[in-house]
Amino acid sequence: MTKDLAQEKEKVRQFAKRYCELSGYQLNPDTKIAETVMEGLAKNRVKKGFQYCPCRLLSGDPEQDKLKICPCKWHKDEIAADGHCHCQLFYK
Ligand code: SF4
Repeated sequence: MTKDLAQEKEKVRQFAKRYCELSGYQLNPDTKIAETVMEGLAKNRVKKGFQYCPCRLLSGDPEQDKLKICPCKWHKDEIAADGHCHCQLFYK
């Protein structure tokens, strides 16, 4: 069954909203950027089955690549250091 991009986008939006509530982070106030990143996450859900980070290269090794499923392994350190994650979806 092919996943529907619009449905997956809605799931990503819900995820991002919930994750902000849980973590205390905020979505990028530049909604254009936030939407572009969420679109990339939704496309990966459709094409690859998981919401892999759209800003990182995948290795093809599922063990390594699972660290790149949003929220990725590195986002907390990036937000602490730069104020936002690599993709600029989540902000302090
Ligand atoms: S960099 Fe940001 S958007 Fe990309 S996977 Fe990590 S938390 Fe998600």
